[in-house]
Amino acid sequence: MIRESRNAAEAGGHITDVEVRGLDGLPVHLTSSDLEVLGSMLGVPLLRPGDSGWASAVLLWNGLIKKEPALVVQPTSAREVSAVVRFAAANRLQISTKGGGHNIAGSAIADGGLTLDMSRMNTVTVDPVAMLAQVGPGCLLQDVDRATQEHGLATVLGFISEVGVAGLTLGGGLGYLSRRFGWTVDNLEEVEIVTADGLVRTASRHDNADLFWGVRGAGANLGVVTRFTLRLHEVGPTVFGGLIAWPFERADEILRRYRTLTSRAPRELAVWLILMTAPAEPFIPERWQGKKICAMAVCYSGELDKVPEVLDSLLEIGDPAVDLLAAQPYTHVQSYLDDSEPKGLHYYWKTEYAVELSDGLLSTIRELFAECPIEGAELGILHLAGALNEHPEDDGVVGNRNARYVIGSNGMWDPGDPAADSYRAWIRESWERQRPFTGGRSYINFQTADEGQQQVRAAYGTNYERLVQVKTKYDPDNLFRTNRNVAPMESTGS
Ligand SMILES: Cc1cc2nc3c(=O)[nH]c(=O)nc-3n(C[C@H](O)[C@H](O)[C@H](O)COP(=O)(O)OP(=O)(O)OC[C@H]3O[C@@H](n4cnc5c(N)ncnc54)[C@H](O)[C@@H]3O)c2cc1C
Repeated sequence: MIRESRNAAEAGGHITDVEVRGLDGLPVHLTSSDLEVLGSMLGVPLLRPGDSGWASAVLLWNGLIKKEPALVVQPTSAREVSAVVRFAAANRLQISTKGGGHNIAGSAIADGGLTLDMSRMNTVTVDPVAMLAQVGPGCLLQDVDRATQEHGLATVLGFISEVGVAGLTLGGGLGYLSRRFGWTVDNLEEVEIVTADGLVRTASRHDNADLFWGVRGAGANLGVVTRFTLRLHEVGPTVFGGLIAWPFERADEILRRYRTLTSRAPRELAVWLILMTAPAEPFIPERWQGKKICAMAVCYSGELDKVPEVLDSLLEIGDPAVDLLAAQPYTHVQSYLDDSEPKGLHYYWKTEYAVELSDGLLSTIRELFAECPIEGAELGILHLAGALNEHPEDDGVVGNRNARYVIGSNGMWDPGDPAADSYRAWIRESWERQRPFTGGRSYINFQTADEGQQQVRAAYGTNYERLVQVKTKYDPDNLFRTNRNVAPMESTGS
């Protein structure tokens, strides 16, 4: 018998029919008996709009995206995921998978479809001897960092701790540790994944190797991952890091010094540059609040007694407006920027990889930020060069093995801001002005909803054709299409 938290009372004990968007875009009418069949295979309630828990189950980080599913299942096991996938395939329903809900394009939700919210599958098990973590697909980055740091271990994860491990990993994954250990997927040893046929498979370099190759950068296209096995490394638990910033008036000097710093930095040092407006936060001296600044977010995970030597060229810049650099827990460095991008505001980004920081690029970035009309904008440079450059281009579909930096223009504003259209136009223009100096390819996890197939294709570069073959083998009907979609062969993808 299907269990529902609200529907039983509302419908006088009967489960009402529901229309769910089908793969062809048209509504599929599911009767109460259809839903009972699905419910009988689940040990969890089937959620519908208005049910207790609905709002958080469908919440997306980017308030700009307005999508809502018709049904949500919050599975607790691979078996339940398999039941839902089989049901969706049999009824040709649009299905989506939600990890942390942080994708900027809102790809966790199939509008009018059936969403698997994985938040209940959120356990982390660390084996400190094997240096591996078994990670549930509902985990946020903070869950993994906290659990692994208890053993002085970490894997490559991003720097905002509320992002989902699943989406980040399945698109590649980058963070302060990328310079040492590559993409997150370079540290992925194995996944358990439910494919479009409903089978629960294990994929690794030795088992279903073609599937594993595709999962390492395009996983959302190939199934629903129900467990990740990630390799861990000795990191922290104390590292040196935090935020340091100078007035924007010194941008020319700071950008050039940043280039020198990153060209010489050891791999244990990751410094990300952010041109931003200083927030009105207690840790920012009052005179700088609301002023444009050049900030650097720093994480040095090497030996602490080497800090003065390693950070020499940064510390000698002098007269910072803000200096919050200190020896501190790695988990703190991985989360202190959490409040800077709260859920529900409207976000719009454009990013691209760069191989070098040319004079033209640096002066363009400085000019752009000087004229930027968006108070909540950030122009950033993420330094990636290191371990990820040392793998062959086809080691996982993630590719982009020549990327040394990510350049980004990020806009953030309140819902209902009347200037929103002009902000989006400015972000696009800023991207166009930087493109002559960048590589023409972008990180799939940073692509917005309006970036088309050309950008998806470009993101995978020479690995794209092989990815289409893997997609065709494991998902010939393109069941998993609520993502940066790669259509299988002989499919219209409609
Ligand atoms: C504030 C912020 C900071 C960020 N910082 C970083 C960073 O430092 N490094 C970095 O690499 N990226 C970063 N990102 C980008 C991030 O990697 C992507 O937004 C990613 O998609 C988020 O994953 P999620 O699970 O939260 O997303 P969701 O929106 O839940 O999912 C994203 C995609 O993955 C699919 N998916 C989710 N779970 C599964 C599963 N179990 N099986 C199959 N498919 C699944 C979804 O269907 C969807 O297509 C950041 C994003 C934000 C918003």
